[in-house]
Amino acid sequence: MLGMDGKTIQLDFPVIDAHVHLYPDFLAKRVTPDLAGRFGNTPSFDGTMDGCVARHATCGIWASLNLPVATKPESVFRTNRFWHEAVDLRAKDGIRSLASFHPRLDDPQAELAHIVQCGFAGIKLHPEYQQFGFNDSSMDDVWAALSDLGLVAYLHAGGERVFPGPYRSNPSEIARLQRRFPRLKIVAAHLGGFGMWDQAEAVLTGTDVYLDLSHTFFWMPKEQIFRMIRKHGAGRILFGSDAPWQDAGKVLEEFLSLPLGRDEQSAICYGNAAKLFGIVP
Ligand SMILES: [Zn+2]
Repeated sequence: MLGMDGKTIQLDFPVIDAHVHLYPDFLAKRVTPDLAGRFGNTPSFDGTMDGCVARHATCGIWASLNLPVATKPESVFRTNRFWHEAVDLRAKDGIRSLASFHPRLDDPQAELAHIVQCGFAGIKLHPEYQQFGFNDSSMDDVWAALSDLGLVAYLHAGGERVFPGPYRSNPSEIARLQRRFPRLKIVAAHLGGFGMWDQAEAVLTGTDVYLDLSHTFFWMPKEQIFRMIRKHGAGRILFGSDAPWQDAGKVLEEFLSLPLGRDEQSAICYGNAAKLFGIVP
């Protein structure tokens, strides 16, 4: 892969970007410019699978895990059917996806059965877009079912630029969820809480919760990222970029500049995600 200074960086392990947002082609044309306006930043590609494959190939990224957020319950079933078919066709290009889910589905258990049948490794949840709290009693049956089914709960965590605070998805709520459902496999994005890193460092490091690195580089002190990785242990950190809302190449280059060992780099970039989501070549 090519670094920003034009020098080639050689890695002896594949890289999985465990946090990307992709849209079907017909939606990407509308959604990507709309979100770019709301987030106030230029996307690193156009939000399509082709755009992702092309951009990530130039950064040396082998596979990308899409995290679809359902903003309404009605869209969950067709979103999941779409990504199930898309991954069947595009897995050879490194496209993978989790399922979407919504806390106010009429029959959440039926959708979880559909998700298992499609072979998804987990679901993405976003308390700000979907207006729920991790510890609302209405969610308990969902967490119990996910634990029994071995599905991963991939959670947005912390602040979100397009919503005003206070935020429902703060690190303490995630730590509480983990204590209440210890068998639940949880990934908390943004090192456990975008913009709430001191709280995340205090309550989430050292727990069983996986933490991803999306939207941390360029947003928080690099020393704190390194310290949190070491405190938490490289075995529960995932490389992720939030592409196209951050450029995966720039994020990877920043990550590789941390003084980590080769085994730590390889676990974070590849091994942990490969095992957790069953992502194999
Ligand atoms: Zn994201």
